[in-house]
Amino acid sequence: MLHFHSTRLRRALAALALTVLALAAAGCGKDGSPPVKGPEGSELPQYPVVKSFQLPDSPTWEKAKRRGHLVVGAKEDQPYLGERDPASGLYTGFDIEIAKMMSAALGFPPSTIQFKTIASANRETSLQNGQIDLYVGTYTINDMRKKLVGFAGPYYLAGQGLLVRSDEDDIKGPQDLAGKRVCSAAGSTPAQRIQADYPKADLVTYDTYSVCVDNLLTFQVDAVTTDDAILLGYAAKVPDELKVVGKPFSEEPYGIGVPRGDNALRFALDDALVKDEKNGDWRKAYDATLGLSGVPAPKPPPVDRYPAS
Ligand code: GLU
Repeated sequence: MLHFHSTRLRRALAALALTVLALAAAGCGKDGSPPVKGPEGSELPQYPVVKSFQLPDSPTWEKAKRRGHLVVGAKEDQPYLGERDPASGLYTGFDIEIAKMMSAALGFPPSTIQFKTIASANRETSLQNGQIDLYVGTYTINDMRKKLVGFAGPYYLAGQGLLVRSDEDDIKGPQDLAGKRVCSAAGSTPAQRIQADYPKADLVTYDTYSVCVDNLLTFQVDAVTTDDAILLGYAAKVPDELKVVGKPFSEEPYGIGVPRGDNALRFALDDALVKDEKNGDWRKAYDATLGLSGVPAPKPPPVDRYPAS
């Protein structure tokens, strides 16, 4: 009993620690706090800005040109992918590096990007109403979403996985979720898949995965489900408390969201991705960010330059 309580206490403290981590500047842990691996600026590539770039057929690019910089939607609480340091307001992670590469290729210095945090459920509307020019944040390309927005890429291939507490023995894959409380983000493909394919699971959704992870650490849910790339980042932050189990059970190709119909922009981004994969920048960016969660750089998936739509 005593052990049970102390475990609960430990978990509650871990949840608190994770929240504090999210609030503290990445990588600057105080004495006594667990070492936190964070992207190091010095290892990140610099992306040369393409001079006198023009894209007159893209209304999105023209608007950004008049404004003087890109406005990019992103995530702010996904370790190694998209994280915002609340003290400085700076965004870091693999998705952020992809956004910087794209900015440079479109003729805008990466340092000028204005990032906006947009939750999974709000991505399509924010692209449709012109609130953002691009979206780079673990955004799965699929046919349903292609009716609403355009996608450059993919630039990474993830797969749905499960995150549980480290002493969880019952959940090893999605087949074990019947009667379990499973947390995911509203409007995400992993939440939709649980509803469609594992209806016996008790699905709860929030705006963000970090709320799900806090709920897991405090025993309010039994598992968190989303892409393995995201879950590995959370597990890496508190490895004694959390583990990723089983094999990925979907394919989640990450694309760069653009307003639907802006084919000129989409093709320019496809070209830029191909170039950055060839010249080694993609790989360097991965190694300095997502690679820190423990998975060596894969070969990027082929860019799918689908016809103008
Ligand atoms: N890649 C999935 C999606 O686009 C899950 C991650 C997320 O919610 O951003 O829905």
